[in-house]
Amino acid sequence: MNKIQDDKKLTHVLYKDKEEKIQEVKADYILSSMPVKDLVSALPEDWVSKEAAQVAHDLPYRDFMTAGLLVDRLELSNHTHHKTLNHIIPDCWIYIQEPEVKIGRLQVFNNWSPYLVKDPLHTVWIGLEYFCQEGDSLWSMDDSDFLAFAEKELQKIHVIRPGAVKEGHVVRMQKAYPAYYGSYKEFPLLQKELDTIPNLYCIGRNGQHRYNNMDHSMLTAIRAVELIQNQSTDKSSLWNVNTESDYQEIKEEDRNSEK
Ligand SMILES: Cc1cc2nc3c(=O)[nH]c(=O)nc-3n(C[C@H](O)[C@H](O)[C@H](O)COP(=O)(O)OP(=O)(O)OC[C@H]3O[C@@H](n4cnc5c(N)ncnc54)[C@H](O)[C@@H]3O)c2cc1C
Repeated sequence: MNKIQDDKKLTHVLYKDKEEKIQEVKADYILSSMPVKDLVSALPEDWVSKEAAQVAHDLPYRDFMTAGLLVDRLELSNHTHHKTLNHIIPDCWIYIQEPEVKIGRLQVFNNWSPYLVKDPLHTVWIGLEYFCQEGDSLWSMDDSDFLAFAEKELQKIHVIRPGAVKEGHVVRMQKAYPAYYGSYKEFPLLQKELDTIPNLYCIGRNGQHRYNNMDHSMLTAIRAVELIQNQSTDKSSLWNVNTESDYQEIKEEDRNSEK
């Protein structure tokens, strides 16, 4: 653990309000879930070394686009014993490996909850997920072109037929995935230096640049609060979340059968 530097205590956060005016909030403690890359560029200059700042600057991310399509039906039939409204397949999501399309995953929102869909008996809201890079050819497509492209892709793999789409919506999400290449291997240097700021706690997924799920992300916040309550400056318990080798989403009976 690096020596804590009391002269590096954070005192306030600046943010832009809805009118784009800069506002200041005073703070005793700061729990940061913004991407580490952006956090470092927002810190006072010289608070981290040039080498550590470079690591932050070069951290890689994968961005993400979703095409939501409202369709009258899917061409996939349900051969399982699970009964569903509208007789659709029972999956919440399906990974797609077909090399002739770019779609990575398909969400079936009706199966997350029929209450997400206005007319779940006669329509299906699906989400086509694309893993991309901000500024690449997918990211830069017009919304209408992207929706048409996504629709064509699903026709190509026979998930929908021409004319099935009633409505569409596009969402672009920057930095959806912190990636483990590029300067990531130098991350411990950056982590060590950030830990010298006594009242800063890096939490969450991009806040730690770690592939944390929702539970891990919440656990980092809980750990941060514990550290504050105990006035502890050793932040290792915070960084130790999600370093275990157990996979969290496995069912208990499957875990037992693996033993
Ligand atoms: C496609 C996808 C599917 C997923 N599915 C699952 C799942 O099924 N189960 C699961 O457990 N987890 C899932 N996750 C992971 C889960 O979404 C994350 O672990 C969780 O949302 C991380 O929480 P967080 O608070 O760290 O970050 P976020 O929820 O991303 O919150 C960070 C916040 O910081 C804000 N912010 C960013 N930059 C700045 C800035 N410069 N200044 C101020 N604010 C800023 C953002 O707007 C955002 O509101 C999924 C993630 C993705 C991308």
